[in-house]
Parts: sequence; structure tokens; C-alpha cells
Amino acid sequence: MTAENEAPEPSTTQLPPGPQQHRDRPGPRVEHDPGAAPRPRVREEDLAVLADQLGREPRGVVEIAARCVCGRPTVVRTAPRLADGTPFPTSYYLTHPGAVSAVSTLEAGGLMAQMTERLAREPGLAAAHLRAHQDYLERRAELGEVPEIAGISAGGMPSRVKCLHVLVAHALARGPGVNPLGDEALAAMAASWRPGRCTC
Ligand SMILES: [Zn+2]
Repeated sequence: MTAENEAPEPSTTQLPPGPQQHRDRPGPRVEHDPGAAPRPRVREEDLAVLADQLGREPRGVVEIAARCVCGRPTVVRTAPRLADGTPFPTSYYLTHPGAVSAVSTLEAGGLMAQMTERLAREPGLAAAHLRAHQDYLERRAELGEVPEIAGISAGGMPSRVKCLHVLVAHALARGPGVNPLGDEALAAMAASWRPGRCTC
């Protein structure tokens, strides 16, 4: 699935930051730069769904990068610097509870270690994983440059697999063929969750 056209709506408001829940930690806080504050372009109803999915107020929302067939968000695109100035490298964030749970099950089964081992012995896969890393950085750069996280993507890219949620979110946001290990994870979890079948 790819990003949809999201017209900016003047009625949207900027939400306060919530607690960090993801394992990809942002870097140290820096002095607040009002010019870099994220400006949400999503509908209030999307923000409400995101808050429900995450169990907290969403932070730094730029747009909905992928949706369930029912229209609810599956991946949110997040500003590389949050409103409080915190660098935030994970610009595609998996929000759908069913998808998050299915990915967590894959992680618990040891898939990340297997993938990381394959990267060491499959040059083609390693090259594709590196290209995914580069795409991640290029897309994030569209939202602004953040020196503290320059060259740093997320999820263990470019050389490892440390968070499948990141890879799956990237794959859902960008479509098949951009993040090969994200694509693989999606295929592996298709019986329990897939984007084309609503389980919301
Ligand atoms: Zn749905």
C-alpha cells in the first residue's frame, strides 16, 4: 500500500508528545527549534484512531503512510524531529495493533536473528537491505534534515535486523520491493494479519 493524498486541513491541531514506547530510541534532546516542529496533515479522526491504537497521544504525525482496507491507519509517518526538539529516526511507525502483534510473534520466534545471519552470507539480500536503508533516509530527508541522526535509519538497517516492526512499517508504506525483509515478514505473518483483510 502506498501513501494517499492527504490534503492539509486547517482544523488539525498539534498534539503534545507522549511517552516513547518503541525500542528505537531517539538521540539526546537538543535545543528546541520552532521552525522544525512537525505540522500534522492528518484528519482529526485519524489522530483519534492513532491515539486509540497506540494507547497514547501520537507524536510528530506528518501523514498516514498506509491504511487498512477499512481506512484505519496501519503506518504513521512521523517527523524526524519532534515538537520538543527530540530527533526521531523511526519515520515509519507501525500502529495497527493486529499488525504490531503479528510482528511481535515473528520476533519472538527468532526471525530477526535468522535474517541477520542471512545478511552475512547472502550478498544480494545484503545489497537490497542497504538499498532499503538508503530509501528510508531519502524519504525521511523529505521531512527535513536532522544532523543528530544523519545516516542513521532504523530497525538495524543497513547491516542488521533489530526491529521487524520498523521493516514491516517501511514495507507497508512504500509497497513491495523496497524493503525485502519487511516484505518477507509480511508474507510470514499473512495468516494472522495482512493489509488487505480488515481485522480492526
Ligand atoms: Zn480495518
